[in-house]
Amino acid sequence: MTERKNLVVNPVKTCQPLGAVLACLGIHGCMPHSHGSQGCASYLRMQLSRHFREFIPTTTSSFSEAQVVFGGSGNLKQAIRNIIHIYKPQAIGVSTTCSAETIGDDAEGIIAEMRGSGELPEDVVIFTASTPSYKGSHVTGFASMVKSAVDSIAVKGAANDKINIIPGMISPGDIREIKRLLALMGIKAIIMPDISGVLDAPMTGKLKLYQDGGTPLEEIADMANSSITFALGQEASLPAALGLEEKHGVSAEMLPLPIGIENTDRFIMELSRISGKPVPAQLEEERGRLVDMMLDAHAHWYGKKAAIYGDPDIVEGITAMAVGLGIEPLYVLTGTKSNRWEETVKTIAPNAHVINGGDLLTLKDLMKEQPVDIMLGNSHGKFLAKEMDMPLIRVGFPILDRANLQHFPVVGYSGAAWLAERIGNTLLDWKDAHVPDHMLELIM
Ligand code: SF4
Repeated sequence: MTERKNLVVNPVKTCQPLGAVLACLGIHGCMPHSHGSQGCASYLRMQLSRHFREFIPTTTSSFSEAQVVFGGSGNLKQAIRNIIHIYKPQAIGVSTTCSAETIGDDAEGIIAEMRGSGELPEDVVIFTASTPSYKGSHVTGFASMVKSAVDSIAVKGAANDKINIIPGMISPGDIREIKRLLALMGIKAIIMPDISGVLDAPMTGKLKLYQDGGTPLEEIADMANSSITFALGQEASLPAALGLEEKHGVSAEMLPLPIGIENTDRFIMELSRISGKPVPAQLEEERGRLVDMMLDAHAHWYGKKAAIYGDPDIVEGITAMAVGLGIEPLYVLTGTKSNRWEETVKTIAPNAHVINGGDLLTLKDLMKEQPVDIMLGNSHGKFLAKEMDMPLIRVGFPILDRANLQHFPVVGYSGAAWLAERIGNTLLDWKDAHVPDHMLELIM
């Protein structure tokens, strides 16, 4: 193992404002604003557009040396005036960058000052999140911005007949799958943030600054009146749910992302318990087909060793699914440090080497000592997979070297079926490519 301090090689995380911008994109009519230098906005736009292959609208306070030394208050005020005038948003989500935080800009105070002076229109909601990247990661930036939006917009009124779901940093395909499950169960829900219809918007030939999707502001306001909030994933979703509980008395319940059969069962059973509605026959059938698929193919993956890495909530879900399939997670790694995550993963996979706040060089060192059969994680692991000559299932964020994956859910029974197919057949493809010709089997 390479001994090192203060050096990260191939990090498994990126910067807080990226997650904050992603959260804003899941709010209808919201312009994400990055308070800092242009390079920060360029970086996060590039990374998000490479993953989603979609247009990512973002504005920036466009710092130069003067703002980094004397503060960027003037730039932020002018930027907000320009955004309102030119882009006519319903909401603006301001995230701060490293330089703005280092100089000590108080974005919330600057917006309050503008509000106090009466220069901001009443119908534009502006919320802020403190997101310096010398702590946390894109996941904590996402969580902070979701919490800030909900804290700022939710308003207590008459009770509604809905539940809240804070889905975390999952793909548009995942959100569509959660909506399908809710519709099958006849449950009304407010999903916040909702990037479906924004980051998987149909090609119409017309460029829209604000896509049709995203959680409407009225629905976010109504979150204060729902019966319960399900936070799917502790790291990305729980802070906002706890904020609603504290401020508006909406009880918060944390569930793992519904990845794999057990986590999906738990999600469905909780929905059934809260709503009093039975699990529909169609879902029971889906589950049964998944079990049948798993039985048909289990010999291909049973007992295989895996390295799982990426964002904590997704990694936790994938680890649970792997254990459910009979795969042995040998290494489980996240770049977003969280003691709670480490404890949970050690409970799910007691024999795994759990790396909390690690990088891919750590994983490489470990895999050289004891290799695995398969890796599951984002695109950054492809070089390691090639060097170690092993298959990689791309899952999580970012996926930069394969197209369309964000359209295919990994949540729910159908997501588990897709993942099981990918794992089983990828292992078989790898075997076919590596066996000598005389051992190439037709029937597996
Ligand atoms: S300076 Fe900070 S906020 Fe800007 S891109 Fe780099 S890590 Fe992200």
